[in-house]
Amino acid sequence: MPCSSELFARALKVIPGGVNSPVRAFRGVGGTPFFTTSAEGCRLHDADGKQYIDYVCTWGPAIHGHNHHIIHEALRKALDRGTSFGTPCPDEVLMAETLTRIVPGIEKVRMVNSGTEATMSAIRLARGCTGRSKIVKFAGCYHGHSDSLLIKAGSGALTHGHPDSAGVPAAFAAETIVLPFNSLPALEEAFAANPGAIACVILEPLPGNMGVVPALPGFLEALRTLCTANGSILIFDEVMSGFRVALGGMQELTGVRADLVTMGKIIGGGLPVGAFGGRAELMDMLAPLGPVYQAGTLSGNPLAMAAGLASLGLLESSMPYAILEASGARIEKALTHAAEDAGVPLQVNRVGSMFCPFFSDKPVKSLDDAMASDSSLYARFFHAALDRGVYLPPSAFETCFISTAHDAATIDRTIDVLCECISRL
Ligand SMILES: *Cc1c(COP(=O)(O)O)cnc(C)c1O
Repeated sequence: MPCSSELFARALKVIPGGVNSPVRAFRGVGGTPFFTTSAEGCRLHDADGKQYIDYVCTWGPAIHGHNHHIIHEALRKALDRGTSFGTPCPDEVLMAETLTRIVPGIEKVRMVNSGTEATMSAIRLARGCTGRSKIVKFAGCYHGHSDSLLIKAGSGALTHGHPDSAGVPAAFAAETIVLPFNSLPALEEAFAANPGAIACVILEPLPGNMGVVPALPGFLEALRTLCTANGSILIFDEVMSGFRVALGGMQELTGVRADLVTMGKIIGGGLPVGAFGGRAELMDMLAPLGPVYQAGTLSGNPLAMAAGLASLGLLESSMPYAILEASGARIEKALTHAAEDAGVPLQVNRVGSMFCPFFSDKPVKSLDDAMASDSSLYARFFHAALDRGVYLPPSAFETCFISTAHDAATIDRTIDVLCECISRL
């Protein structure tokens, strides 16, 4: 079998940057990526015969670990029945019934093929329902790579955003207002400056795409009140946090209700899936009932539905959240102590099984705080851990995920490795 370096050299010739999603290229930490040939439980096996304890968990979906036998079996059975029908299939109904049962406030749901599609479609729906065009997002929240969402903040909270990627028209950026996360005054100002013009506010209720940066107490509640007062739709992007921090996601943890919720990752059980849902009166604005168009050749794909239903079924039957919390708490405590002992500035931000070690001496509450952390120290930490068989995200601004396959012995081993790495920084 070709080794990772040979595969990467070949990939560079035929795939831009050698990867199909940029962060996989290791640009954030230096070096070159390993190529995974198989994965089982909490471990990745690479083309060089090495294995790693995996804290990326395919960027969130693998909450049961890799290649779980129940998901595997569900997929095998679905495969025997065919891979795509182009007509409605029974598992789509089961999936919609499951999601509407689990996720608070969702009466109807539409399946798509990625988180990007889910947020893009939810925003179109919000615009279609309100007849307004402006949207509000927060700096550091990631909602996939559609044009309206690849926008960075302008010079002040009241100015419109700028494209955050070549190829995004300035006219699109003009419709997106980007605010600092956790700043209520900025949101109040934005509503005051754009009366009757803001279709929706979209956010990660637990941001995990700038590292983990939880909302401050009261922020989500105030957001809800402001959206209601201004007739704007509140979209919780729970593609990452949904089913991860609690079965019902951040809505369940905080009691705050969104108008629309976007989902993905865990609900696909490792296959490409997204979904968005909300009250029936909003969702019925979608084609074929309503004027907001949205479609997908492979949406509700039978393989993806089977894997997703198995993944959700496992969560409902095992309710692993207390165990995941305990594992997360142990890692957080150990890293914090190791850093204190070593005199290394470290903030471990964590909610349940999502955590992020920021090398910083002050609390991280916003994108600016996250960016001010020492990413070169993180890069050294990352490589030290990788050398010792622990795979952390190859960027200082991503989330580490724990799965139910990370048993107590694995957590012990991880703590030993990571604490040693911190002491040697
Ligand atoms: C991963 C992610 C997305 C994008 O999902 P894709 O399936 O990669 O398109 C959107 N929103 C959040 C919060 C995410 O974590």
